[in-house]
Amino acid sequence: MTRIPENLPAHIPHYIGGRRVDSIGGERFDVLDPVTNETYATAAAGRKADVDAAVDAAREAFLHGPWPRMKNRQRARILHRIADIVESRDAELAVFESFDSGLPITQARGQAQRAAENFRFFADLVVAQRDDTYKVPGTQVNYVNRKPKGVAGLITPWNTPFMLESWKLGPALASGCTVVLKPAEFTPLSASLWAGIFEEAELPTGVFNLVNGLGEEAGDALVKHPDVPLISFTGESSTGQLIFANCAPHLKAMSMELGGKSPAVVFADADLEKAIDSTLFGVFSLNGERCTAGSRILVERGVYDEFVERYAARARNIVVGDPSDPRTEVGSLVHPEHFQKVMSYIEIGRSEGRLVAGGGRPEGLDTGNFVAPTVFADVRPDARIFQEEIFGPVVAIIPFDDDAEALSLANDTRYGLAAYVWTSKLERAHLFAQSVEAGMVWLNSHNVRDLRSPFGGVKASGLGHEGGYRSLDFYSDQQAVHITLGDVHTARFGAH
Ligand code: NAD
Repeated sequence: MTRIPENLPAHIPHYIGGRRVDSIGGERFDVLDPVTNETYATAAAGRKADVDAAVDAAREAFLHGPWPRMKNRQRARILHRIADIVESRDAELAVFESFDSGLPITQARGQAQRAAENFRFFADLVVAQRDDTYKVPGTQVNYVNRKPKGVAGLITPWNTPFMLESWKLGPALASGCTVVLKPAEFTPLSASLWAGIFEEAELPTGVFNLVNGLGEEAGDALVKHPDVPLISFTGESSTGQLIFANCAPHLKAMSMELGGKSPAVVFADADLEKAIDSTLFGVFSLNGERCTAGSRILVERGVYDEFVERYAARARNIVVGDPSDPRTEVGSLVHPEHFQKVMSYIEIGRSEGRLVAGGGRPEGLDTGNFVAPTVFADVRPDARIFQEEIFGPVVAIIPFDDDAEALSLANDTRYGLAAYVWTSKLERAHLFAQSVEAGMVWLNSHNVRDLRSPFGGVKASGLGHEGGYRSLDFYSDQQAVHITLGDVHTARFGAH
């Protein structure tokens, strides 16, 4: 079998204070290969004591180490070195990521470039950073004293894990914070590369710490730790709600990037061929395990039948198979638990819409977490498959008659992460974009991001926006310092 990567570790430890260590209590959990669902490695299962040790190391590095006190340019140099090393590991990383998560290898390959760019971008930004100074002529000068907030708790999901970790590590480190990362338990493999990358780039010891483990144990201990003043979380909305409640007693700063059920709206005047290409990619790339997936497609009635027919034909033609095969377009879902969840939605969908493609396990792939790209047409707006995040290769299509109905259907969900609009009318596109309840909108295009732009969702899809300077602001305190020039005019209490 060629699909088993070389250098696969048999065990994945934590990384605390510059050392690869096991859990204090010796606990471990199994990590599965998503193609066979067999255990290929164990990982250290962190609990409160392990999180305490990691936070102590990060706090020591924050209070007494060089990182928060370095000039921005010095930190940026190290971040650029990290980016160079990440890029040079592209092939190894892609193989690890594809093997651990089931992502098709061709789609895993770009992830190192995107991760490297997250370090380069925030390195450049922190060097170019300027803060405000205000003068009140003859009386006062005020300026902003920007300071890193402290030990940042970073909690990440299993879809494109390495890239999403870099999206938090880049700005947290650029800002001068020290960090404890708790990666997703389904996919700890690629995160195990960070320690070596940071050592090679000479990031000071204790700045980066990683605790593996289950969300309800390691993640929970990190969220509740009193010496971690901020939590950056990406994951499900329900987990976000729980974390929000657990942060409340400590009044922690929170950045939450949560789930989605994003609409892709296709008007009759759209370039149908391009819209079909994009809406297929939007929900079936990354195995459909994409937060911004356009998993609800709204199509204007005049082109609805044609769209559904052409879309379903293409979906039936998508190549599902071994993630390590470069021909594969949809690989295996990450874990048998997630596979069961997606399959249960397909069963629910049978009574909620007309199945026009897929509908379960593809022929010839009898084991592993493979799901055929599945398309339901004529779905009711109140259907569960139209309202709930499935996070797999499943899409619901629905017709609409005019702009007002399209907007109302697009907004008729608890989520508000992304929206996609396909039309040749400029005015219609902008009017729609401005009214749709979504943190991010793409007009006649899909998920290509500009790191300077806000990233995040509204409603149940998130809290706060990162991207560009917003990310640096999240990881920094901005203290106002006031200096009086000349006499201070003070009412003289008790002087009379
Ligand atoms: P999840 O919420 O199950 O887990 C995410 C992380 O939280 C994991 O590391 C997990 O161990 C941890 N966790 C779980 N319970 C916890 C608790 N009680 N306290 C602290 N940590 C806890 O999400 P997932 O299944 O790993 O990821 C898929 C979800 O992530 C989808 O909903 C998807 O839309 C969302 N997502 C959002 C974005 C975005 O930018 N908005 C990006 C990627 C994924």
